[in-house]
Amino acid sequence: MLVVKSNKMVSCPRCCSCKVVKNGKKKTGIQNIRCKACKLQFQEEYLYWAADYKNRDLLKRMLLRGSGVRDCAVVLGISASAVLRCILRMGKAAKVWPKQGAYHLVQIDEQWSYVGNKQKKVWLLYAICKNSGEILAANWGKRNKKSIRALLKKLQGVEINFYCTDNWQAFAEVLPKEKHIVGKKYTKNIEGINTWFRTRLRRLARRTVCFSKKLIYHYSIMKTAIYERNIRASYI
Ligand SMILES: [Zn+2]
Repeated sequence: MLVVKSNKMVSCPRCCSCKVVKNGKKKTGIQNIRCKACKLQFQEEYLYWAADYKNRDLLKRMLLRGSGVRDCAVVLGISASAVLRCILRMGKAAKVWPKQGAYHLVQIDEQWSYVGNKQKKVWLLYAICKNSGEILAANWGKRNKKSIRALLKKLQGVEINFYCTDNWQAFAEVLPKEKHIVGKKYTKNIEGINTWFRTRLRRLARRTVCFSKKLIYHYSIMKTAIYERNIRASYI
């Protein structure tokens, strides 16, 4: 266990390993520390709030637990614009892709939300694995056949036995007939995830005044939620 100047014991903020070593100093005199387990380099202390891994993680937890941008800003003592900058950064780092090469039952559903005002509806169309709940792919756009095709493109190369959807006509026109199962009772799992989205993300909650002002923030936060849900379900 490494003990730094301030007499604090240091562990890795990412993997919590105690196998950390000193790794030179910054120009400012702040100690660099490197985790031997996951290779993360971090600092003993940070001059800029959002550079600190722990702070960013805390902010992410708040955003994915129903707090809006202004809630986070007030509780964490930072500016709303700093929160927004972090959201963009999180969105860029979040990637959504199918982890396996083959799936038996895949459920597809769409969910609407809005940006700016209620007339500007945007649709999230996404696919999940029925058994694991993993979100395989997501597409944001209008509610039309083009969006379904865009989603399927993201699933290219993945072997899927059956697609389960509700009875929206566009699904029947795009999905291969022999693999398409229609009915509300086959999309229960994804309906549950729809509810999860609305509960976890403030900007998706019904009957609030919280909503995204710009598409980029809207998409970034949803992508982050999907990414985090896929990599560590317990976190969410
Ligand atoms: Zn580590």
